[in-house]
Amino acid sequence: MNQTTSYGDPARYVTHLHVAEDCLDLPCTQEIIARAGLPVTVVGERGVPAIEGDYPANLTSGKHHLLLCRNRGAFFKPCPGTREYRCCNYQVLNIGMNCPMDCVYCILQAYLNNPWLSFFVNIEDLFQELDQALDTEPDRFFRIGTGEFTDSLALDNLTHLSSRLVTYMAGRSNAVLELKSKSVNIGNLQSLAHRGRTLVAWSLNSPPIMAREEIRTATLDERLEAAARCAQWGYRLAFHFDPIILHDGWEDGYRFTIDRLFAAVPAEAIAWISLGALRYLPALKQIAATRFPRSRFFYQEFIDGLDGKRRYFRSQRVAMYQTILGYLHRYAHPRTCIYFCMENDTIWREVFGFIPEERGGLPAMLDRAVGGGECA
Ligand code: SF4
Repeated sequence: MNQTTSYGDPARYVTHLHVAEDCLDLPCTQEIIARAGLPVTVVGERGVPAIEGDYPANLTSGKHHLLLCRNRGAFFKPCPGTREYRCCNYQVLNIGMNCPMDCVYCILQAYLNNPWLSFFVNIEDLFQELDQALDTEPDRFFRIGTGEFTDSLALDNLTHLSSRLVTYMAGRSNAVLELKSKSVNIGNLQSLAHRGRTLVAWSLNSPPIMAREEIRTATLDERLEAAARCAQWGYRLAFHFDPIILHDGWEDGYRFTIDRLFAAVPAEAIAWISLGALRYLPALKQIAATRFPRSRFFYQEFIDGLDGKRRYFRSQRVAMYQTILGYLHRYAHPRTCIYFCMENDTIWREVFGFIPEERGGLPAMLDRAVGGGECA
C-alpha cells in the first residue's frame, strides 16, 4: 500500500491569514501577506483567531488558519528530554506552533491548546537570540532543530525562513541546523551556500502508516526524491523512523521503505538515522480516537513509561528495533549514526550491544557523525 497520490504543498490547506496588530508592519509579515494572496484579518495585540468549536475537535478547521504573531517567549531552548530515557541534547528553535499536515499520532494535539497555526514574524529577535546563545558558548557544539513544535518546511513557501536560517548557519562554526519535514518544500534550499551547516531530514514510516495515518504529507517517493535532490545540492541528510508502529505486515512495510530509501539516496550522505517506537501521552489516545475514529493502532497493549508516556512492551520494542536495524545494516554507511530517540540503556544494550555512555554519550556520538567521523 504505497501511496502515490500527492497532496502537494501542505500550505495550501491554509485559507485564512490572521495578523497580530503589532506585527502588521514587520517586513516578514508583509512578505508573507504578499506571497499568500489570502484574506487577512487583523487581530488585537493579544487577540486570537475566532475558530468555531472546542479544542481539539476544532483542530481540523483550525489548521486552515495561520496567525502571524510575535514570539513573546524564548525562541531557543533545550529539547524537553527526560532523565529516564537517553536524550540527544538537541536544541529547539521555536519558529511557530502547529502544522497544516495532520498525523493521527501527532503529539502536538495533546501539547497545544489552540487549533490554529502560528508563525513568529519577529525573526530579527530570533537571530539575535541565536547570536547570543552561540556566542556565549563558543566551545560548545549545538545541534539545532526547528521541527519540534511544527514541521520545519511545511509553510516555507509562504515564510521563506529556511533560506535565512541556512545562510545564517553557514557562518557559524559551532552549530548545525536540522530541518525536519514530511513535506517536500525544498525549493528555497537550492543554490544556497550552506557550507555543510544544515542537514535536511525526513520522517519515514511503513507505507500503510504513511498512507493511512499521515494526512496531507508527501508520499514516500516524493520524500525520497526531495532527499536525493538535497544530496545533489551538497546537503547532509537525516532520516527518522519515528513513530515505529506495529501493524499487519510491519516487517515488509519497513523493509520496503528502507529498500527504497537506499535505492534513492547515497548512503554516505546520511549523517544519522533515528529509531523511535510509538510513545504517547495518555490524553492523545482520546483526542485521536475522536478525531480519527478509523485509526486502530492506539488500541494495542501498552505500558506506562517512566516519563508518563505509553509505550509498547520492552520485548516488542526490542523485536521491532532488531528487525529494522537488520534492514538498515544491509545498506547503511559505517559513518551513519543509527540511534534511538528516547530509549533506556537496557534496550540500547540489547539491540546495539553497547550503551551511549560507553561511546562518550549520545550527544557526542551525533556530534562526531555530523563532523563526518565514526559515531560509535
Ligand atoms: S507533520 Fe509532524 S507536526 Fe505535522 S501533524 Fe505530522 S507529526 Fe505533527
